[in-house]
Amino acid sequence: MQKQRTTAQKLEIKRFLEANREREMTVAEIAAELSESGSGIGIATVYRAVKRLESDGIIIRHVTGSGNKAVYKYCGDESVRNMHMIFCRCCGKAVAINFELSHKFETSVSDKTGFSITDHQLLLYGLCPDCR
Ligand SMILES: [Zn+2]
Repeated sequence: MQKQRTTAQKLEIKRFLEANREREMTVAEIAAELSESGSGIGIATVYRAVKRLESDGIIIRHVTGSGNKAVYKYCGDESVRNMHMIFCRCCGKAVAINFELSHKFETSVSDKTGFSITDHQLLLYGLCPDCR
């Protein structure tokens, strides 16, 4: 019963992030908004669900601003594969970059590590045109 409840809450958190896919939110913000909507999901549950969704590749985490505030953003189940994103360190804006990562790079990593590369994520950080 407890497990079912946890699964339902995780799904609700996933749906919430999906509905707010344009936004980046901290665990505290997610918990506050869910609690306003009367879901009764505690921050500890949000924290665990977010960690799990991150390891499932459904959301991405990055640190925004000059502080150490971690924010989360929905990426979709599939679109996160081979994704390239650039983040503004100042305002936290995220932009997807569409370009092919050099096949030579993957081949060289594969040769050095013995891994066969199935997909990748590339996160770049900088200052956006508004913040430069
Ligand atoms: Zn910016």
